[in-house]
Amino acid sequence: MMNSEPQSTNHALLWLRADLRSSDNTALNCAIGSGLPVIAIYISTPMQWYQHHISGRQVDLIERRLKVVKQQLNDINIPLLVLECDDFSTVPETIIQLCQQHKISAVYCNRQHGWNEKQRDIAVEQALITHNKYWHCSDDYCVVPPGQVVTLQQQMYKVFTPFRTAWLKQFLQHNYQPTTNSDKVMFSQHCLNLINDNLDDNASFKPFNYSKQDSLLWPVDEQAIQQRLQMFCETKAEYYQQQRDFPAIDGTSCLSPYLAIGALSARQCLAALIETQPQCVEINSHNGAFVWLSEVVWREFYNHLLDDCDRLSKHQPFQLYTHNIQWLENSDHVRAWQQGQTGYPIVDAAMRQLAATGWMHNRLRMISASFLVKDMLCDWRIGEQWFMQQLIDGELASNNGGWQWAASTGTDAQPYFRIFNPTTQSERFDADGEFIRQWIPELESVPDKYIHAPSLWSGFSRVDYPLPIVDHKQMRLLAIDSYKQAKIWH
Ligand code: FAD
Repeated sequence: MMNSEPQSTNHALLWLRADLRSSDNTALNCAIGSGLPVIAIYISTPMQWYQHHISGRQVDLIERRLKVVKQQLNDINIPLLVLECDDFSTVPETIIQLCQQHKISAVYCNRQHGWNEKQRDIAVEQALITHNKYWHCSDDYCVVPPGQVVTLQQQMYKVFTPFRTAWLKQFLQHNYQPTTNSDKVMFSQHCLNLINDNLDDNASFKPFNYSKQDSLLWPVDEQAIQQRLQMFCETKAEYYQQQRDFPAIDGTSCLSPYLAIGALSARQCLAALIETQPQCVEINSHNGAFVWLSEVVWREFYNHLLDDCDRLSKHQPFQLYTHNIQWLENSDHVRAWQQGQTGYPIVDAAMRQLAATGWMHNRLRMISASFLVKDMLCDWRIGEQWFMQQLIDGELASNNGGWQWAASTGTDAQPYFRIFNPTTQSERFDADGEFIRQWIPELESVPDKYIHAPSLWSGFSRVDYPLPIVDHKQMRLLAIDSYKQAKIWH
C-alpha cells in the first residue's frame, strides 16, 4: 500500500503498534532506509482498549516496554513520542497534525490483522494521500505474511496440518531471517545529527490513562527477553514434546506476552531455535524442537485466518451453524468459573492463577475453555472476553482461535462430540495435584487420591470448597444434543 515516493527533505515517521522493539523491526528498517531523519510515535487508545477488553496487565507491560524502546531508539538518534487518542476514530487527524507539526513526509508502520486495525489504517492512508504524504505498511507480525500460504485454489487453508506443510515449504524457500543489529547501525549512520529534536522529553511520555495492573513478573529489558528465548532453545526445546502439557512443570517458553506486544519477533524465535536445534525444520520429524516450531506456526495460522476472515474479528463463529446453539445463561455459574469456585479443582486452580497473575498454561486454557462451553453450555464469547480482560498475552487471533477450537465453532476445531472430561484431564496432566495445591490452599487436607474430585472424599464436609456446580456426565449429553439440534436447524 504505497502512494508517491517520499520527498527528499523533512522527517520520516515510524508508527509503533504491536512491534515494540528496535531489533528486527521491518518498519523501523524501512524508515531508516528512507534516508530521512526518523521520529517515532506510539499512540495509546484507552477507550479502544477498554471496548476490546485489553487487560490492565498487558497495558502495564506495554507502558514498561515502551520506556525500554524509547531508550533503544534514542541510542540511534530517534526520539519516541507517546501520544493518546481515545479510540481509533481520531488517529488519522492526530497523525496529520503531527505530520504538519514536524514536517513529516513519510509514515512507516507494520501491518496489523484485526478488522478494526485494518479500518483504522485505511482511514490513515486516505488522510495521508489527501495531504500528499507517503505511507508504507510492512508485513512483520508473522514470519510468512498472511495471504502467502494458500491452497492451489488460492484459498486460505482451513485445517492446520496442511497449512503447516505449506507454511514450512515457504519458510524454507524464502529464508525469512531476522535483521541483525549491525545492519541497523549501518543504516542509522544516515540519521546521525540530522534530527531536529525539539520534543520535550517529559511531555512526550505521559503515563497511560487506563486502569493498569502490575506486570512486574515479566521483565521488559532486551537482555532478559533474549536470554529467556536463548535459554529455552538451548535447554528446553528438546524436551518440549514430553513436558509441554504439564502445568506444574516449567516446560514451555513463556514468551507469548512478548510476542503479543512485539517485544520479540516470531522470526527471532525461529532463528534462535534453528541455530540451536537445526533438525527442527525437518517436516514431521516430531522432535521437541519441531513441536515447538509447530506452536509458533499455530500463531501464524490464527493470524492468517484473522486476516482472511473478517467475521472472526467481530467475534462471530467460523462454523455458521453454531449461531443456532441455545446457550444457557447462568450468571452464577459464570461468576463461579471466573472466580475459581466451580468445584472442579483443575479448572479453579487455572482460573485463580489467571486472575492473580494474568497467566495460564496452554493445557489449562484448553481445559477451562472446554469447561465453560461444554460443561456449562455458556456462550464461548463470554470466556473469550474474560480471557482478554485477564491475560497478559491477550492476542485477538490466538485467543479467538483457541476459544473457537475449544467451542468446536472454528475452522480446525475439535469435533463437538469430543468433550474434555475435566477430572480425567486433571488426573492425566496434574497427576499428583501439585499445581492444584499451589492455587487452592483449602484443599491442603484432601488426600492425593481425591485431589481431582474432592467431593468424593468422606472428609469433604470439613473442607471449605464448593461442590461441583454441574454434573459432567449430564452436561456432556446436553452439550452434544444442543450442537446436534443447532446443525438440524441450520
Ligand atoms: P509455547 O508453548 O512456548 O509456544 C511458543 C509460542 O507459540 C507461544 O508463545 C505462542 O506465541 C505460540 N503458541 C503456542 N501455542 C499456541 C496456540 N495454541 N495458538 C496460537 N499460538 C500458540 N496465545 C496467545 O498468545 N494469546 C492469547 O490470548 C491466547 N489465548 C488462548 C485462549 C485459549 C482458549 C487457548 C486454548 C489458547 C490460547 N492461546 C493464546 C494459545 C496458547 O495457550 C499460548 O500461546 C501459550 O500458552 C503461551 O505460552 P508459551 O509462550 O509458554 O508457549
